[in-house]
Amino acid sequence: MSALTDHLIRRMAVEGPLTLADYMGDCLSHPDFGYYPTRDPIGAQGDFTTSPEISQMFGELIGLWLAEVWRLNGEPKKTRLIEIGPGRGVLMRDLLRAARMMPGFPDALSIHLVETSPVLRNKQQQTLEGTNHSITWHDRLSDIPDDGFTLLVTNELFDALPIRQFQMTSEGWRERLVIHNPAEDNFGFVLAPGPGPAETLIPKAIRSKAKPGEVSEIAPMGWAMARNIAERIATSGGAALIIDYGYDGPALGDTFQALRAHEFADPFADPGEADLTAHVDFGSLAQAAAGGGAAVAPMSTQRDFLQALGIEMRAASLMHQKPEEQKKAVAAQRDRLIDPDEMGTLFKVLALHQPGAPPLPGLER
Ligand code: SAH
Repeated sequence: MSALTDHLIRRMAVEGPLTLADYMGDCLSHPDFGYYPTRDPIGAQGDFTTSPEISQMFGELIGLWLAEVWRLNGEPKKTRLIEIGPGRGVLMRDLLRAARMMPGFPDALSIHLVETSPVLRNKQQQTLEGTNHSITWHDRLSDIPDDGFTLLVTNELFDALPIRQFQMTSEGWRERLVIHNPAEDNFGFVLAPGPGPAETLIPKAIRSKAKPGEVSEIAPMGWAMARNIAERIATSGGAALIIDYGYDGPALGDTFQALRAHEFADPFADPGEADLTAHVDFGSLAQAAAGGGAAVAPMSTQRDFLQALGIEMRAASLMHQKPEEQKKAVAAQRDRLIDPDEMGTLFKVLALHQPGAPPLPGLER
């Protein structure tokens, strides 16, 4: 039995059935046995691949966007550039390279990475060696002082934050809880025997619409994170860019999933060995951010955003006078990022800025 399975069974023995958020939280982030703290899961050898890992264009375009936001806001001398969940550090590396195009911008930056996984911190350190920036690592966003103009980016962070699920029954909402079944030696869902206080967190728009059997997901940790980011932007000035796969919710539906070696897997088999995620409800995230006092730009898709930032031109310049093979590779990377059948429309962009600040480039109303 794996150490994490043993831990979960012991925890259930004293606490009873766990919420899905507790199960997900232990699987992904248990400091000794969790998925992220114990491995580098990203890339061909791992379980999943992300946009910055697909192409340098992703990070470069975001770097130019950040530089433009900085310029539009009067080129603040002290600017904190924060990334939460930087993975292997590739997005930060590529965006810093592009940021050098804007005179004065690199010198204004102090870099802050929020990462709990020691394995990934190590990877980030290697990737960012030679960038000539002083970089500080933090366990939590709240560890970073909020006294300067802030530019914040996250890619594929929110899908990894724990969610809770509820199912409509003929008697009303019941939370889906995780138990261990000793006879079959596996984990699985049961419905809570009665109503609980947390169901009041189900967004009003869908609470009364559900038919028996339908599932609602809430993301209290994601909402809290969005609110914290928003409060920081509202106080310090600046902008935050949140990119992930998801939908303009709230909406009903079960999106809890496991990915292992680039294939869907059983989220209850081998806890801690697969990436557990849920699609991000961007509508609710935007609402949480507005509650934190930030102005929320109109939501966009990855396709529209990267096109507005000039991905076609960047791809063309990377292809210019290059061998046929390389041209094809760049075109394939561009298409993977923006085609509606690939990551183009499933991935969304939510951006926040300080109320009263200039509109965000590429995301004007
Ligand atoms: N942004 C990267 C990596 C995405 S994977 C990319 O696009 O390639 C998710 C990242 O979020 C990992 O770095 C993981 O360690 C980190 N992470 C997961 N939960 C977190 C949390 N609660 N706080 C901060 N980082 C977290």
